[in-house]
Amino acid sequence: MKDYLIIGQGIAGTTLSFELYKRGLSFDVVDHVKPSTASKVASGLYNPLVLKRRRVVWQAHAMLNALLPFYREMERLTNSNFLQHKPVWEILPDPGTENDWDALSEKPKFEELIGEIIPNPNPRIRAHKLGEVSGSGRVNVEGMIEAWKAFLSSQDSFIEDQVKMADLDYKHVWTWNGNQYSNIIWCNGFVSANAHFPHLPFSPTKGEVLIVKAPELKLDHILHGNMFIMPWGGDLYKVGATYSWDQLDTEPTTKGEEQLVEAWSKLVDCPFEIVKHEAGVRPNVKDRKPLLGRSDEIPNSYIFNGLGSRGILMAPWLANHMVNYLTDGTNLPPEVNISRFS
Ligand SMILES: Cc1cc2nc3c(=O)[nH]c(=O)nc-3n(C[C@H](O)[C@H](O)[C@H](O)COP(=O)(O)OP(=O)(O)OC[C@H]3O[C@@H](n4cnc5c(N)ncnc54)[C@H](O)[C@@H]3O)c2cc1C
Repeated sequence: MKDYLIIGQGIAGTTLSFELYKRGLSFDVVDHVKPSTASKVASGLYNPLVLKRRRVVWQAHAMLNALLPFYREMERLTNSNFLQHKPVWEILPDPGTENDWDALSEKPKFEELIGEIIPNPNPRIRAHKLGEVSGSGRVNVEGMIEAWKAFLSSQDSFIEDQVKMADLDYKHVWTWNGNQYSNIIWCNGFVSANAHFPHLPFSPTKGEVLIVKAPELKLDHILHGNMFIMPWGGDLYKVGATYSWDQLDTEPTTKGEEQLVEAWSKLVDCPFEIVKHEAGVRPNVKDRKPLLGRSDEIPNSYIFNGLGSRGILMAPWLANHMVNYLTDGTNLPPEVNISRFS
């Protein structure tokens, strides 16, 4: 019998199972492999600032402290390379915004997160100057998921399948697929309903991204203005992402494409060709905080979900809290504990 069955291998299931592995706990990960999950289409940016609102993300400093050692250790273990720690460039379109950015760097919580103001080095970028965001960068999420899946497979701990409620049986322990587990943990991202956690107030948002080819851009930093442009290898760039609350599916839309093309043209002056258009649904929550904890009704059934729009930044810090809670009964931070909705 193993300690845990992790259901889902997006950012949530990957990071949580890695934390369990580090602590020497036994588990299997089962994933219904699909091409367009939130994690697979995600740009993988981590950024401690809410740039649009000039705010620091909740618990940003603690999350950043957890992030680098966590992903670097996973890179080492899986012998892969998916983390790029490089400052985001915020577009400062005029001297007024440059002054505002400068003033921000003197505010207490911002000082370690706001880097240099640099002259615009690239004539294709539509900016007066660029403000660096320290402590930001990108995880190649698909690369991380594949590397971790290969490692788990080599340990006989990965199963490709879809868990159906009817196939889960509990009699003192959980039985699924002929195997026994002490606990199950739902890391299944956005789903229309989960019978073990029927009352949780998800507020899913659809997001679309483009991958474009632009040989003339020659950009090696992530650029942010109204949206992001992210170097994607070679002459490719990812542009994103949109937010919408209707038609919650993984179908790219014409409206999404128009928004992304408009965003590109506002950020840079450069010809491009669309290579790919993708969509996914983020597991956002009404109060914008993750959903961690144990079911009130179903024994030994847990959830690690609600990573919303900032899964990469939050997941290492949350996985550490979740495993402390599972193993020592240490309280979860109340802001993320699902008991807030009881
Ligand atoms: C367009 C877009 C851009 C984004 N950009 C960023 C970004 O730059 N930075 C960032 O941090 N975040 C970003 N996000 C948000 C990020 O993608 C999410 O926070 C994160 O992916 C959520 O991960 P998850 O593992 O909870 O869910 P998911 O990625 O949805 O993974 C859930 C997994 O569980 C599987 N599953 C579901 N049900 C079952 C079942 N019954 N049995 C077995 N398996 C099951 C699914 O198939 C899936 O593989 C973006 C999201 C979108 C849509």
